[in-house]
Amino acid sequence: MKKRLLRLFLALSMIVSYTSINAQTKYIHCGNLIDVEKGKVNEKMTIIVEGEKIKSIEKGFIQVPESAELIDLSSMTVMPGLFDMHVHLESETSKNGYMDEFTMNEADIAFQSTVYAKRTLLAGFTAVRDLGGSGVNTSLRDAINKGHIEGPRIFSAGKSIATTGGHADPTNGYRADLMGVPGPNEGVINGVEEARQAVRQRYKNGADVIKITATGGVLSVAKSGQNPQFFEDEIKAIVETAKDYGMLTAAHAHGDEGMQRAIRAGIKTIEHGTLMSEETMELMKQYDTYYVPTITAGKTVAELAEIPNYYPELVVPKAREIGPKIQSTFAKAYKKGVSIAFGTDAGVYKHGENGREFAYMVEAGMPPMEAIQSATVTPAKLLNVFYEVGSIAPGKNADIIAVSDNPLKNIKTMEDVKFVMKNGKVYKLN
Ligand SMILES: [Zn+2]
Repeated sequence: MKKRLLRLFLALSMIVSYTSINAQTKYIHCGNLIDVEKGKVNEKMTIIVEGEKIKSIEKGFIQVPESAELIDLSSMTVMPGLFDMHVHLESETSKNGYMDEFTMNEADIAFQSTVYAKRTLLAGFTAVRDLGGSGVNTSLRDAINKGHIEGPRIFSAGKSIATTGGHADPTNGYRADLMGVPGPNEGVINGVEEARQAVRQRYKNGADVIKITATGGVLSVAKSGQNPQFFEDEIKAIVETAKDYGMLTAAHAHGDEGMQRAIRAGIKTIEHGTLMSEETMELMKQYDTYYVPTITAGKTVAELAEIPNYYPELVVPKAREIGPKIQSTFAKAYKKGVSIAFGTDAGVYKHGENGREFAYMVEAGMPPMEAIQSATVTPAKLLNVFYEVGSIAPGKNADIIAVSDNPLKNIKTMEDVKFVMKNGKVYKLN
């Protein structure tokens, strides 16, 4: 009898100590704390984190009780975890990129994507929207959510949707007998019926958002980087179907005509937007469409195009022409009052360098605080997750990062994130 009681006691005390480790309270002393909702910086603050959630935010450096852990960021600037609204976690630019399509198995892509996901998280990006891959991106999301691997929260588009020969037609540039006839399942549609089918299939596959390629693109093996590639009724069918399933829509677009069709059809975010006219900027304001610039990717493709044989011949002139234009378009759009959401097209350049985009945005005329808001509050609201992330507030999930300098004075500090916490768990502290 005594033995049984002792065993019961031991078992109970193990449960108690286990839960107390998991629910460990953390006191984060913040030298500066950016309030992204109000757009201001508060000095000497303490964030109290309990388990996965933010319990409270207090003025001053609150003394840490014995049962809690201190995280000393008293020399740093602390802010909510960042969002990148445009990444591709399945791949990364390389000289062999076009060959990989024929040599890599799905499992190879999956293992590779875990490396990119971790790098992204450690760069301070606790949430990303993956705008197109093979579908491994959706499995990657699930593996991260289950805790099998380390990475950001992912909002996945699965495979993006194109028209035949369009920017995301997966068999562009193939030998005729290898092309086949990809359809809605593979993300290629023609006409309204197939447009609806493609969206429903993505919902069934577990995608969170829908991405279309409204115009030609730089890196596809096709002649035009900017021609319109959807009819308006096709985009409308996609947007309406996506709405029924509660999915946000994004359109890749370099050319102006394709962009206008996408905006009028109700697409929520325009990606790249390279050749956006002033008329289109007005249209975006009218339709409450957001601009996701991806300046970093534009600059990178222009640089890589100068390396002999890096890209296929058909791609080089497009990369030279389109790439460098994004930053000046962004400058004009910002000045005109177009709503901006932070996005970089990571994968087109090296994953983990997402923070470079901040300096480019600031260089083009956006104040640092607004650039940070475009990567926190704005995307969280667009993705309908502001109730749980996107700012540091009581009751929200503890997605918190820190940099060593004040980004309002030195935006480059965003490229070197020193502290990363996601869901109350510390992934980086140095
Ligand atoms: Zn992209």
